[in-house]
Amino acid sequence: MKELTYDAVVIGGGAAGMAAARELDAAGCSCAIVEREERLGGILGQCIHNGFGLIEFNEELTGPEFAERMEERVRGTGVAVYTGATVMEVDAAPEIKSLFCYSASFGVIRLNARAIVLAMGCRERNRGNIRIPGDRPAGVYTAGLAQRLVNIEGFVPGRNVVVIGSGDIGLIMARRMSWIGCKVHAVVEILPYPSGLTRNIVQCLHDFGIPLYLSHLTTRIIGRERVEGVEITPIENGALMHEKSFVIPCDTVLLSVGLVPENELSKDAGVELNPMTNGPVVDSMLMTSVPGVFACGNVLHVHDLVDYVVEEAKRAGANVARWLKGERPQAEARIKAGPNVRYVAPSRADPSRDNKIYLRSLVVKNEASLEIRVNNRVVRTVKKAHIQPSEMLSVDLSRADLATCSGSPDPTVEIALA
Ligand SMILES: Cc1cc2nc3c(=O)[nH]c(=O)nc-3n(C[C@H](O)[C@H](O)[C@H](O)COP(=O)(O)OP(=O)(O)OC[C@H]3O[C@@H](n4cnc5c(N)ncnc54)[C@H](O)[C@@H]3O)c2cc1C
Repeated sequence: MKELTYDAVVIGGGAAGMAAARELDAAGCSCAIVEREERLGGILGQCIHNGFGLIEFNEELTGPEFAERMEERVRGTGVAVYTGATVMEVDAAPEIKSLFCYSASFGVIRLNARAIVLAMGCRERNRGNIRIPGDRPAGVYTAGLAQRLVNIEGFVPGRNVVVIGSGDIGLIMARRMSWIGCKVHAVVEILPYPSGLTRNIVQCLHDFGIPLYLSHLTTRIIGRERVEGVEITPIENGALMHEKSFVIPCDTVLLSVGLVPENELSKDAGVELNPMTNGPVVDSMLMTSVPGVFACGNVLHVHDLVDYVVEEAKRAGANVARWLKGERPQAEARIKAGPNVRYVAPSRADPSRDNKIYLRSLVVKNEASLEIRVNNRVVRTVKKAHIQPSEMLSVDLSRADLATCSGSPDPTVEIALA
């Protein structure tokens, strides 16, 4: 078996993997990216709408344009790129880690490295995950698969569409299917508020006159060979109102019911997972519970915007380089999700540095405030005009915020929303 050795190997060549690899290279570390698709870019390749890059490039780009810009940054460096190669197995031994990669063109190779960066992105939840009763007809797709079929394969999956779930991919696909001449009858959401970004509700539903049924459950998919309709039931005061159920005839159902980090290899590497994000638990350096294994991008927690993925991945790459040079986190503070916060990532902060923390709200609220509490004392409050679970929030935890951590045996930072 061919064997090659690098300082670090990055698994996944999406926005996160490319940004982390470039930072590693800039810091003088030898580095490789392994990507299972034939080209770099990850999910960006099928997102042909615009709305990417306003922060990173100060321009509004499509997904493929954003991917191309990121790829240009990598191509001009010493980063080795293996495309069409899938990492099948990770041996995260304490000193030298090994990745076993399989490719149709070069067979099996073993890549050794002192550090690994997990950047495998996320996957869509499917019908099995949400257990919709009914038949098993053709015509049920996840929204991301339909996006790939339409935008890359040039195939129209159906003509009369109902979207179940109001996640961003479903909203974007509702608009995309309308653009190609399909009739999108409705987007059906179990929650009393949308799961996608407000800008997508406006631009993808309101602008196309597509109804959004909030607090409605899809209680049945109808059809033996091909989808013929979906039965929808309103939810009032937490109870299903069966007497008010109705059927929307359609031939295609698109599911947009959430994303989960692609964590098989994370489990293989033995890293601890956060049950709220399904991604790894990471410290202030974005290092997992296994020393030398780092994580960034959607494999760590599902992000809304690629710009935030890149920002986090750059930090991960720079941290891996510091770690390879012998730096280790010192006297970290634990960060926990306080009231109304679903999760925080990372789970540790370094009081000797400025830290960036991402979080998601559990509630929808106007005029909210985000409280930073160190050892049960509020050290700073940040006003937020509007918060909702679908919009990721971030907060900069400065050294000044964390000043009172020194001297405490087990400093704890709690982030709360009120
Ligand atoms: C439909 C949709 C619309 C979006 N719209 C916007 C928008 O308008 N604006 C915006 O800013 N952001 C948007 N985003 C979000 C943004 O594009 C993503 O969050 C970001 O691109 C994710 O980057 P990533 O590198 O973490 O993951 P990915 O892009 O998923 O990359 C992960 C890569 O890892 C590879 N991989 C996985 N497992 C292995 C393995 N075992 N071996 C080798 N390779 C592996 C995969 O093939 C993939 O290429 C959208 C996302 C989607 C899905």
